[in-house]
Amino acid sequence: MRKLIVLGSTGSIGTQALEIADAYPEDVRITALSAHGNAEKLFEQVRHYRPAAAALTSGEVPLPEDVSFCQWYFGADALKEIVRDIPCDDVLVAVVGMASLECVLEARRMERRVLLANKETLVAGGQMIMPHCEVLGENPTLIPVDSEHSAIYQCLQAAQGNPFESIILTASGGPFRTWEKGRIMEATAAQALQHPNWQMGQKITVDSASMFNKALEIIEAKWLFSADPHQIQVVIHPQSIVHSLVAFQDGTQLAQLGTPDMRTPIMYAMMYPRRLPAIKEKLDLCGIGSLTFEKPDTDRFPALLMAYEAMASGGAAPCILNAANEVAVAFFLRNEISFHAIFDTVRHTLDRLSMPGDTVDDVLRADQRARETAQLYLQSLR
Ligand code: NDP
Ligand code: MG
Repeated sequence: MRKLIVLGSTGSIGTQALEIADAYPEDVRITALSAHGNAEKLFEQVRHYRPAAAALTSGEVPLPEDVSFCQWYFGADALKEIVRDIPCDDVLVAVVGMASLECVLEARRMERRVLLANKETLVAGGQMIMPHCEVLGENPTLIPVDSEHSAIYQCLQAAQGNPFESIILTASGGPFRTWEKGRIMEATAAQALQHPNWQMGQKITVDSASMFNKALEIIEAKWLFSADPHQIQVVIHPQSIVHSLVAFQDGTQLAQLGTPDMRTPIMYAMMYPRRLPAIKEKLDLCGIGSLTFEKPDTDRFPALLMAYEAMASGGAAPCILNAANEVAVAFFLRNEISFHAIFDTVRHTLDRLSMPGDTVDDVLRADQRARETAQLYLQSLR
């Protein structure tokens, strides 16, 4: 039985993790939960899972009598505090955005295993997080949940100490894969939210449409697997069945395949190293028929190039890219800007700022400056 804290329990990843916990009550016990503003859903979860603690990061609200049995935390520091105070084996970090950097560091300080779904934190602060984590090896202390990185992780289990030559991240191409550039740039939020294969939270769904999701994942892979940027490639694979691959120098490529369902990588991380029976449909290759692959088009999807550029610039550039994108996506989801303004905002912010990213303070400062710069730019567009 492993004790698990689920941060971001009301979100897409969080609720799927709880579904797995429901299916395996003998294997997982939930000790804490968190949400940002969705108090009602969190209350329901608290009634059901009866955790030792719960957190609402947007601030304090009146508590119904029947949820007051557990310890409550409110506000921006709640995640860090809950990880510090509440006993557990694993912390699933499934909050969205940069909010989880300090709680990931706290989880490692407390020697908890981190099951990391959140990619923004690693993009912004990988240089601070990775020295405290062991990813592969006998007793991993950080297990990736993002499907591509889980795939790579699983392929690398078979490497037996041999170095990889390259990592090949697959990308569905999102809803605009076949659209012309002009049409993509004028796309609406409703169109960007229609992902062909995956059901996910809003922010990552927009990131998939812009391919900033893949841009973040390139940087995520660099940190997780100590890869040089030139070792990381992206291949468009519209069926989202091959979740990623690892290439070795003998010409072999190992891949991990499965249905596009996040419950597989979430369960892999939660149960590691065991593989328990799936709680969802299994892959039927003959039912799928064919798997196809294409080269990404960086003219229509410039986000990929910006990822390599940010990695080459170093310092806080990846953090700045992430922050500008987060701000622009929030504007876009409120229908305040057009789709191309997301690319323009990240471009503008990367061009304006060059800051160090060696310490938590550096990263938080760069994140703040990038948000201000992006915000000013976006306001100038209105
Ligand atoms: P959702 O938007 O569905 O859920 C986000 C969760 O985080 C909710 O519980 C939300 O609470 C909480 N939250 C929102 N804002 C804050 C904040 N400022 N501080 C603390 N908590 C906050 O996101 P997803 O589940 O889609 O994604 C979570 C993370 O996992 C992201 O980093 C994403 O990139 C990554 N990921 C997601 C995948 C997916 O399939 N969804 C796939 C791979 C990676 P509330 O409900 O109260 O707003
Ligand atoms: Mg992914």
